[in-house]
Amino acid sequence: MTLPLKELSENATQWRRKLHENPQTAYEEKFAASLVKEKLEEWGISYKSGIAGTGIVATIKGNKSSSGKTVGLRGDMDALDIVEKTNVAHSSKIPGKMHACGHDGHTAILLATAKYLHDNPDFDGTAHLIFQPAEEGAKGANKMMEESLFTDFPCDMVFGLHNWPYLEKGQIATRVGPIMAAVDSVEITVTGQGAHAAMPQYGRDPLIAAASLVMQLQTIVSRNVSPIDTAVISVTNLNCGTGADNIISDTATLSASVRSFKPEVRALLEQRIREICKATGLAHQVSIDIEYHQGTEPTINAAEGVEIAARAATQTVGIENVILDVEPCMGGEDFGAMLQDRPGAYVWIGQREPEVDSRHNQSLHSPFYDFNDEIIPTGVTYFANVVKDYLKEDDQTA
Ligand SMILES: [Zn+2]
Ligand SMILES: [Zn+2]
Repeated sequence: MTLPLKELSENATQWRRKLHENPQTAYEEKFAASLVKEKLEEWGISYKSGIAGTGIVATIKGNKSSSGKTVGLRGDMDALDIVEKTNVAHSSKIPGKMHACGHDGHTAILLATAKYLHDNPDFDGTAHLIFQPAEEGAKGANKMMEESLFTDFPCDMVFGLHNWPYLEKGQIATRVGPIMAAVDSVEITVTGQGAHAAMPQYGRDPLIAAASLVMQLQTIVSRNVSPIDTAVISVTNLNCGTGADNIISDTATLSASVRSFKPEVRALLEQRIREICKATGLAHQVSIDIEYHQGTEPTINAAEGVEIAARAATQTVGIENVILDVEPCMGGEDFGAMLQDRPGAYVWIGQREPEVDSRHNQSLHSPFYDFNDEIIPTGVTYFANVVKDYLKEDDQTA
């Protein structure tokens, strides 16, 4: 169903622009948290704040509670370390910080959803609205879960959304199974022995070992991972040498981004990186140390979650605008951690405009990107439809 949201969406657009003007990065989202708390208090919605620092959970009970069911809706609040170049009137006022991923829009959507559900509680059960800090690489979802998120606020299922400038405005896309990747990284230090460039026999050259490593690591995806599975290893940094051409250095450092969907592929990538480093060290008489960081979990949608998301999306934008077999993205999303713990679904809401150079069509994390306020009603309606689908009032079977 399309909801009568005109006034609420206009207000939410104002909040979104204020949030855009005041971007803060991981665990520093005080402006967003204050705005959320101020509005929840104004409307008399109960909430708990201070979860993972700036995180907040608002709880809205339906007219009925006979189902005993609970659902979580999640929105992220953090910005990025980017210098904004949009020149819009609501540009960032904080130097070097920018809402370049549209989390300002996600916060506004979730806040407007709170108001809508509070005013229209025609559902049977409880909705927990999760305002989350630090999505951008700092695992705010995991941190909220470590701080008892799902113990204090039990959620039978969880749902999340992200604006998507790669899809037309008015489309909602998702898929069963993996939709976003596990994002890990590795830092490698090669230690050899420095020497005169003219007399390499008196040293152990870390540069040759590092160069070999770059090539060997590429064989993991091409030779060890099944061709049917998906993985990326990108060596993105390689540093060695002082700038002088007559010195063999004693160390080299490399780093790489390691991405995959399946847990078994993720484990294989780490195992093979470690084995290749060990063998390369032996082959080149250098020692190789690894710091392996497991980052965001893969975002994997449960079939039962996508069923609900698909119905809610169809009610929101019509079946012709719902894509249920969208191609997954190798980017990361820490909502994956919540989906590992609870069934649910993550969807993308298109925000692309017909004008090619619209700021709403710029890539996420671009200094020229801006969230499209016109998708606020779509996001709110989708979330409300998820709640009303999962917590149907007439569902006596639960
Ligand atoms: Zn982002
Ligand atoms: Zn994002």
